Amino acid sequence: MSEVKLLNKGEKFAHASVGAINAFEGKQFLKDATGATSCEISFGSLPCGTAVPFFHCHKNNEENYIILSGSGKFQIDNEVFDIAEGSVIRVATGCSRNLKCTSEAPLTYICIQARENSLGEFTMTDAEITESENLM
Ligand code: ZN
Repeated sequence: MSEVKLLNKGEKFAHASVGAINAFEGKQFLKDATGATSCEISFGSLPCGTAVPFFHCHKNNEENYIILSGSGKFQIDNEVFDIAEGSVIRVATGCSRNLKCTSEAPLTYICIQARENSLGEFTMTDAEITESENLM
């Protein structure tokens, strides 16, 4: 089982790591390490032939799964489809979901859980260019 390590933290940021993605094992949630207030991010990895051991649904949060490596199947209620490295799957509230690894290589993914319909401004409607000194 991989661990989450808090590497450094300031007043306005937290920097955590789960280590090398190709060596990641198990499931880890990052909210407690980073102190995130807008979403819960987790890393997961499923060995060949395995699925998450339960189906689940969410009442208020949508989930966005980003497949980092491997391939497999994703089930949402009674619909099943293929997924692979590079797949991004948004799952709405109120439906059951699960994923299974069918590749030799582990299926490694990120899941971002956030309140459904909470996204207002984003990218350049929320960002502004600042005049910070470049220290890099
Ligand atoms: Zn979930």
